[in-house]
Amino acid sequence: MKKTIGFDSLCAKESQEIRTTKPHQLPIYATSSFEFASLEEGIAIFKGEQKGDIYSRFGNPTIDGVAEKIAQLAAHGTDVEAAALLFSSGMAAISTLLLSELHPGDTILTQGNIYGGTTMLLYQVLEPLGIRIETMDLRKLNQVEERLKQDNNIKLLYFETPANPTMECVPMAAIAQLAEQYQCISVADNTFSTPYLQQPLRAGIDYVIHSTTKYLNGHGNSVAGVLIGRDKERIQGPIFSKLKLLGTNCNAWDAWLTGNGLRTLGLRMQRHCENAQAVAEFLQTRPGIVQVNYPGLPSHPDYAVAKKQMRGFGGMLSFELAGGLAAGMQFVERSQFCKLAPTLGDVDTLIMHPASMSHSKIKPEVRRQYGITDGLVRLSIGIENVEDILEDLEQALA
Ligand SMILES: *Cc1c(COP(=O)(O)O)cnc(C)c1O
Repeated sequence: MKKTIGFDSLCAKESQEIRTTKPHQLPIYATSSFEFASLEEGIAIFKGEQKGDIYSRFGNPTIDGVAEKIAQLAAHGTDVEAAALLFSSGMAAISTLLLSELHPGDTILTQGNIYGGTTMLLYQVLEPLGIRIETMDLRKLNQVEERLKQDNNIKLLYFETPANPTMECVPMAAIAQLAEQYQCISVADNTFSTPYLQQPLRAGIDYVIHSTTKYLNGHGNSVAGVLIGRDKERIQGPIFSKLKLLGTNCNAWDAWLTGNGLRTLGLRMQRHCENAQAVAEFLQTRPGIVQVNYPGLPSHPDYAVAKKQMRGFGGMLSFELAGGLAAGMQFVERSQFCKLAPTLGDVDTLIMHPASMSHSKIKPEVRRQYGITDGLVRLSIGIENVEDILEDLEQALA
């Protein structure tokens, strides 16, 4: 009989990778660590003298492959050499960046109507660390410049465009220019637009964040985030170091799902835009609707800004029902084809009532200040046949 290892030892050993040809699809590397061929190789990789995977909290071929692809998409058609890191969520990307770039005594200048989780991160995590939070309407460039002139402690400008839920658009190139002039870092959360519709890096913005949970994955089956930066060295140096220490890394499975979704991003975004434009125009003609907020409507206050910096106007819109809170809640309850879910960017149409859901914890007077009225309904328009969406809205309105 052949000399062999014991039964239990054989069980414990990993199966051999029997591979003769290259896989057409990027495999899911479900491994926490990587083996070194020799002690010498292990030392060189640990020291960073040789490239090599070590431990999946630091990345692995699935995670790194998808991050690299998003970096290329974010900088596509520009001469920026961007780098990207994948995170466990959009919030992980935002928190890791802000904890890397802000220090006690610094001020962050932002909008009042950014993603609710981001606002809570600012007040519940960053403010107690000695970071000042200041909000203003970042579309008012003269006022922004006034503040930057007055206050040297403003270190970071943070914005979303279009911003939830009334789709206000911040002029990115002007913000990037002000940031450069006053030596601030500029950060755009580009979740709503994706690199297909707009590229903050092209406009001169330093860092771009996405909750890939939304449009980049697009199928509502993973939670992850990404940070892209024009300064490759900062991304791969100090920020990557924070990712490792905070443990905000993505895992191979969610990275793979994100990569899978990305393959149809352009096609999906085209249809999202077409359908949303049709829905916005339809809603504008209906009685009982006070206002439709969609940057693709010439009546939107930021139509010109959106037209200049976006390739399409996106799949997100909101509208205000004349009947206030009761009408808003009733409308959401009556919709059937459009599903009630607190996310966005999926292939199917989703409906949400901000006053009773996403923004319910915000004081009514503050809500009103940002146009989040009680009768406001938000739609994330999907890629279905538009007639089905319109029919559902029509019956819910009736
Ligand atoms: C959802 C969302 C986030 C947070 O992303 P998660 O993946 O849920 O952590 C941040 N910004 C915007 C604009 C979002 O829509």
